[in-house]
Amino acid sequence: MNKSAKIFVAGHRGMVGSAIVRRLQQAGYTHVVTRSRKELDLLDQKAVHAFMAEQKPDYIFIAAAKVGGIQANNVYRAEFLYQNLVIEANLINAAHEAGVQRLMFLGSSCIYPKLAPQPLKEDYLLTGPLEPTNEPYAIAKIAGIKLCEAYNHQYGRQYISVMPTNLYGLNDNYDLNASHVLPALIRKAHEAKQRGDTELVVWGSGTPMREFLYADDLADACVYLMEQGYDGPLVNIGTGTDVTIKELAETVVKVLGFKGQLAFDASKPDGTPRKLMDVSRLASLGWTAKTRLPEGIALAYQDFLAKLG
Ligand code: GDP
Repeated sequence: MNKSAKIFVAGHRGMVGSAIVRRLQQAGYTHVVTRSRKELDLLDQKAVHAFMAEQKPDYIFIAAAKVGGIQANNVYRAEFLYQNLVIEANLINAAHEAGVQRLMFLGSSCIYPKLAPQPLKEDYLLTGPLEPTNEPYAIAKIAGIKLCEAYNHQYGRQYISVMPTNLYGLNDNYDLNASHVLPALIRKAHEAKQRGDTELVVWGSGTPMREFLYADDLADACVYLMEQGYDGPLVNIGTGTDVTIKELAETVVKVLGFKGQLAFDASKPDGTPRKLMDVSRLASLGWTAKTRLPEGIALAYQDFLAKLG
């Protein structure tokens, strides 16, 4: 990527999009284009086409999506399927029509079958049924991957898809009903400490295993792949190691200094038993994650505190 290339980051207000913008700016890219939801509604097909025809970016990162944790995905099933399908279809099709040659589409590890062998290899896509709690989101993301592949196959575009593992970092969502486990635990541990509680409630059994990647590491990998001119198949982005939810909760309370006990609420769903990415394709391309979990949690917590004001 030329340092003066025009790069559109869709979803720049979110955790992933904001990390990509930060990474691009750090690396000296001078022409990063962003639009707030007010300026450009990505659900509005006409508006997206008009924007793309006018801007004709050289590169696009699609980090815009309706996202949420296990509860939000499970409850707002219609919105998760509909909005994600429309956002990606509008952006990818409009990019193609405007002659954009290179684009990166960000998905999620939940596109893989619920009972796929672990660690999850890219080849396991569409080999079995999905985890029901986030099936709508996963179906939308799979459609996005296939849309990219179809434009590449039919029109010679270089639209690549990357599948990040569970993410956390700056600008995360700390709303307990919509958030993922890590930000939820940061908030719960903070509030429990403030109130002097003796107990912190963790959803589910604590036994599911998850892998966590710091969002700035993800952004680094995304920019790296674009800079390398990678235009091969789907790539997983993760750390390659996972922890149980119980171990995660223990790490969070240690970093935040909450001294009470953990309690497990079995009335909440566990979701998929394990979700660990096979990152050998990414490693063979020369990239590995740098930020360790306790260090990343401390950085995210600082950001959480700063936003509390
Ligand atoms: P998932 O990775 O798609 O299943 O989504 P989440 O990050 O929301 O949940 C991961 C796991 O953490 C599930 O087993 C949840 O039950 C568990 N978990 C434990 N405590 C919490 C919490 O406070 N919030 C959320 N969202 N998940 C929690």
